[in-house]
Amino acid sequence: MYQANKQRYDQMLYNRIGNSGLKLSAIGLGLWNNFGSVDPLENQKEIIHQAFDLGITYFDLANNYGPEPGSAEENFGRIMKSDMHAYRDEMIIASKAGYVMWPGPYGNWGSRKSIIASADQSLKRTGLDYFDIFYSHRPDPETNIEETALALDQLVRAGKTLYVGLSNYNGEQTAAMAAIFKELHTPFVIHQPRYNMFNRQAETDLFPVLEKEQKAAVGFSSLSQGLLTDKYLGGIADDSRAKKATIPFLSPVQVKETLATVEKLNQVAQQRGQSLAQMALAWNLREPALACALIGASRPQQVIDNVRALDHLDFSDEELAQIEQILGE
Ligand code: NDP
Repeated sequence: MYQANKQRYDQMLYNRIGNSGLKLSAIGLGLWNNFGSVDPLENQKEIIHQAFDLGITYFDLANNYGPEPGSAEENFGRIMKSDMHAYRDEMIIASKAGYVMWPGPYGNWGSRKSIIASADQSLKRTGLDYFDIFYSHRPDPETNIEETALALDQLVRAGKTLYVGLSNYNGEQTAAMAAIFKELHTPFVIHQPRYNMFNRQAETDLFPVLEKEQKAAVGFSSLSQGLLTDKYLGGIADDSRAKKATIPFLSPVQVKETLATVEKLNQVAQQRGQSLAQMALAWNLREPALACALIGASRPQQVIDNVRALDHLDFSDEELAQIEQILGE
């Protein structure tokens, strides 16, 4: 029987998200990959236990995570039921709807029909009574934003989620949604953009809007799917995301294209006495709008390594300038 580490709250940082009452662990665990029906359940358990033992409270799901789509929610539900149910009130569990999930016109995007049916399915798959955060996973160009906002609001009123969030909406779309949520008094608290050293669009487009609205961000692909680590410096191992046939999102070509930059960044990390993954996470967290950096992990040791980023979060002006220069080359 799993017993959580008694010291789990000693080292982790908890950041308040915007002007809400909610705090998130500065590092969150995402279940996009490595938690599907193709992945061993025992390893999934070990990763989740490791994360919780280190004070990670934020666990990020979506309807389509797997593969197979839906299987990450099912596996997470299994682990909650068998090992973690005693800790439910110590956890922030999020899910999302907006990418294709079932056939026909209702299994995708952001209509009221789609969002509410998808949230009900996600609750069933996870076996949870409610989510802590439920996101619209992406803006729907064909649905009036008011309809999507009202569907999320209804999830709150029906007790299916405590808070709502947006993901992959640009700054302008976020401001428009925030105005509707304000009118409805919907607890919209968080935005989930891609954010890492290689993907910085949020800095100019989204973060100023979030700061103005007193909301926060939880950044995804904080390590650029593993590119911002030392794992590819010695070549592409068979069990890495760039090689796995079940994960089509990172290719060997992307690894080759970024390798020279990654080598230079790795040297800066070494000067700081950190691994590159740790420096990349610390660098993400220097951004005031970012409350939490989401990581993925294929093994428990990666979680341990990544949480150690919190041991050295400060950057000197020289280090920041050096990183800017490398990224600008
Ligand atoms: P990362 O950028 O953290 O990449 C995770 C991968 O990096 C791991 O699977 C592992 O790769 C490698 N890695 C992690 N730590 C280390 C380490 N210390 N040393 C070496 N390699 C390491 O995150 P993801 O791209 O997985 O995204 C994180 C989460 O963000 C997702 O799970 C999901 O919850 C969310 N997300 C949300 C999206 C949205 O649209 N809202 C889109 C994408 C993600 P390997 O498997 O090769 O070992």
